[in-house]
Amino acid sequence: MLDDNPSTALLITVDTELSALLHQRGISLDDNIRSSIWGDAHGGSYGIGWQMDRLEEYGLKGVFFLDPMPALVFGPDFLKPIVSAIVQRGHEVQLHIHSEWLADAACSPVQGRTGRNIGDFSLDDQLILLHMARTWLEAAGAPTINAFRAGNFGANDDTLRALAQLGIAWDSSVNPAYHRHGCRITGARALAGITRQLGVLEAPVSGIIDCPGSFRPAQLCAMSAGEMRAGLRHAVQDRHGAFIALTHSFEMLSRDRRRPNHGVMRRFTALCREAVRLPTVRSAGFHDLPPELADKGAEPTLLPANRMRTAMRRAQQIWGTWRYERRLVPA
Ligand SMILES: [Zn+2]
Repeated sequence: MLDDNPSTALLITVDTELSALLHQRGISLDDNIRSSIWGDAHGGSYGIGWQMDRLEEYGLKGVFFLDPMPALVFGPDFLKPIVSAIVQRGHEVQLHIHSEWLADAACSPVQGRTGRNIGDFSLDDQLILLHMARTWLEAAGAPTINAFRAGNFGANDDTLRALAQLGIAWDSSVNPAYHRHGCRITGARALAGITRQLGVLEAPVSGIIDCPGSFRPAQLCAMSAGEMRAGLRHAVQDRHGAFIALTHSFEMLSRDRRRPNHGVMRRFTALCREAVRLPTVRSAGFHDLPPELADKGAEPTLLPANRMRTAMRRAQQIWGTWRYERRLVPA
């Protein structure tokens, strides 16, 4: 039972997606895959291949929330090599949906209706979209999908109802930082631990309090290595059932996708190193999580604000922006 197993499950989740924006700007499917999924830049690859290399170096499992929705435009064949690369290396493929792709769909499954977030659609439409997207991933070789994360964290309570109807046990669409920016699941602002909501298990993105009243998600581009380490250690000390960290397939690149961002890459490696250093942290995917984690009782606490820690991250962000984001050639 849980009391015999007080460890904290660490889920390193990677939202793995093509860029709808680059598509609208005219980039080809192949170039979008190379940039957005494999992270090709400057003669190297810094996307999911690089991330899996680091995870495996430390004996960790990754969870890749893969968005199949570009299949609306290009057909589903592009998914196979991506799914196969992840599954063959022992990592998890789970479901991610960016409904923005419906705007460019060759044939709409929801009678031409469009929306930025899945939560913008009726329950019936969400059922259609989730069922279609899951079918694409499983047909491309993914083992049974049992977890979902909405693109832009843009889910609502109907999303949870739809997941329950489709038998997808876990949702990870809650990010308290987005509670005013599209995340419309009831209680999203305050959720910090695994709960049961409307028939599914809700596993919110983890985080810390970086300023009084301000939640900072455990996302690699948003937290310093020190903040991530402090957040994970706090989760262990407070006996959280899980710590859910987040990154993207393209997050190791500069925003213009032209260069690797070694600052964010170092944070990824630092998280892996910390995970193996802490004896009560175990690497997990959603297939490894016991549903009983939702029944732990006490609401987990978040690491409180620390002015010095926040100030150090801000200084690092300024340096990182100067180092990796400034234009090399004046515009
Ligand atoms: Zn996404």
